[in-house]
Amino acid sequence: MHPVSQEAIVLGGIDYSDSSRIIWVLTPEYGRQSLMVKGARRARSKYQGVLETFNLVQAIYRKSRSGSLYVLREADLRRHFPGIRASLEAFWAASAAVELVREIGREEQESRALFELLKEFLSVADSPGQGEAGLRTLLVAFRWRLADLMGLSPRLLECIGCGTKLARQDEYGFVLTEGGLLCGACGARRPYPAGTAHSLSYQGLRLVYRSCRRFPASVAELPELPPAELEAVERLCRLYLEYHLGLDPRPAGRGLGWPTGEVVQRSLRNPAQGSRKMNNAG
Ligand SMILES: [Zn+2]
Repeated sequence: MHPVSQEAIVLGGIDYSDSSRIIWVLTPEYGRQSLMVKGARRARSKYQGVLETFNLVQAIYRKSRSGSLYVLREADLRRHFPGIRASLEAFWAASAAVELVREIGREEQESRALFELLKEFLSVADSPGQGEAGLRTLLVAFRWRLADLMGLSPRLLECIGCGTKLARQDEYGFVLTEGGLLCGACGARRPYPAGTAHSLSYQGLRLVYRSCRRFPASVAELPELPPAELEAVERLCRLYLEYHLGLDPRPAGRGLGWPTGEVVQRSLRNPAQGSRKMNNAG
């Protein structure tokens, strides 16, 4: 097989034998790929610092003679995203995004839109001084945009119960299983079983609607939500993706949930743990 050359985003990896490592990457043309990196763990490896999680690289690899695994031949670092590594909040947001892509990415499938979305997300998360609320909002935007790319864009303009165009309300009922909103009248009639309609504020709806259409070039393009409303949209998005993509519900801090303040505090108190995770995520 001829070598393949692809732009690739590193999604993580695991050590393999005393000297090698297997890394997972996302490529535009072939989706998620597992690459064997021989000698990656040696002190004088040419890949030192090149294959860290979140890095954008140009990778050349080919199928191994014996098995189905690909073997990395060369990798050039294109972007390192230092801002993500300098801020714990940006690091958490990027970890959650990368983990989601690792979970839903398909091997050997054209994935250009997903690749571009992740690259845009990392670029925006990399810019300095965004703060926790901004990065959380950005992560929500990333997840809804991803839902749209997977053909799971919710219906946000008409009521899913009666089909009438939705008027402006302070709050809407979002039916998770149907992927859409209820008007006030249908919400009051409660046509769906208890627990299936989740409350979504008007600002929350604006954020979801905006996110599904296009990923922002900066956090400033997104509506700013009060903390409780942001939390509600985060929760709704997480439940929506878990339900429609068949993901396992996970505790906060591992994957889809935003880490609790306590987890962030613990990592801040013990930066060694944070940096180890940063180099070794996965
Ligand atoms: Zn209705």
